Amino acid sequence: MNVLVVGTVAFDAIETPFGKTDKIVGGAATYICLASSFFTQKLNLISVVGEDFPEDAIKMLKNKSVNTKGLQIKKGEKTFFWSGKYHNNMNNRDTLDTQLNVLENFNPIVPEEYKESEFLMLGNLMPSVQKKVLNQMKKKPKLIVLDTMNYWMDFYMKDLKEALKQVDVLTINDEEARQLSEEYSLVKAAKKILNMGPKNVIIKKGEHGALLFNKSEVFFAPALPIEDVFDPTGAGDSFAGGFIGYLANTNDISFQNMKRAVINGSAMASYCVEKFGTQKLNEITSKDVESRINEFINLVKVD
Ligand code: AMP
Repeated sequence: MNVLVVGTVAFDAIETPFGKTDKIVGGAATYICLASSFFTQKLNLISVVGEDFPEDAIKMLKNKSVNTKGLQIKKGEKTFFWSGKYHNNMNNRDTLDTQLNVLENFNPIVPEEYKESEFLMLGNLMPSVQKKVLNQMKKKPKLIVLDTMNYWMDFYMKDLKEALKQVDVLTINDEEARQLSEEYSLVKAAKKILNMGPKNVIIKKGEHGALLFNKSEVFFAPALPIEDVFDPTGAGDSFAGGFIGYLANTNDISFQNMKRAVINGSAMASYCVEKFGTQKLNEITSKDVESRINEFINLVKVD
């Protein structure tokens, strides 16, 4: 099944207790595509970059079977830039800088060949852009997953709430769930969020795993205990990429299968954090992914 991925393709500058990088290639859509590519070869990308964005990075996506027809390259403009710093507790980070640049006036154009994609991943991006993509689809995709973050809640809550009405799965982290619902308890937060429109909500809790809720069921998956967490950037997007990639590959959107998808997403996130930026996702093979999923199964299996 085709997966349409919308999100940022970006430059990131990251600081963690283990090191610091200058501008490296990142962005929500980049991580989503890399993680999804282990599950499906039918990936369509919609995003925007400036002319400062390296051709090699676009080639890297193409090599992962990502169709980049919907990636706009804006002459004379600069790519979206984000900079963040993690402290000793790497579940929390401070955003040091967000420069929207090309995103400021981004008008997404969905190529004709993408318009019937069955699986739609609305990665972290301006909610108005997420809505514009939704409105250009020829028919309602079988599954719409939306990811967002506090930045968009702070400035564009009204647009975000409108987009949420059309969503099948919302993925957010625990702090964002509290901000969106104005509830401290994550169970109450999930209930409130489900009343805003999404049929399912996944609340990511970093190294403490992820919770999947619908109106009558709940599932919890731990995060794999990792010896060396180097850089958590992109973990949430890698999770989302693995999650939707697995569902598209199996073409089954039941709650039961979403549980499996959560485990597959968690496996991708666990690889992502082991090195800076996209490095680890670029190094691993399908065999590595398979063995990590088995590690997950063994982690929670009891006789
Ligand atoms: P994650 O760690 O999964 O939340 O995602 C990190 C990625 O999100 C980085 O590569 C950033 O380029 C990207 N990012 C940071 N801020 C934003 C934002 N406001 N909108 C969209 N993408 C963002």
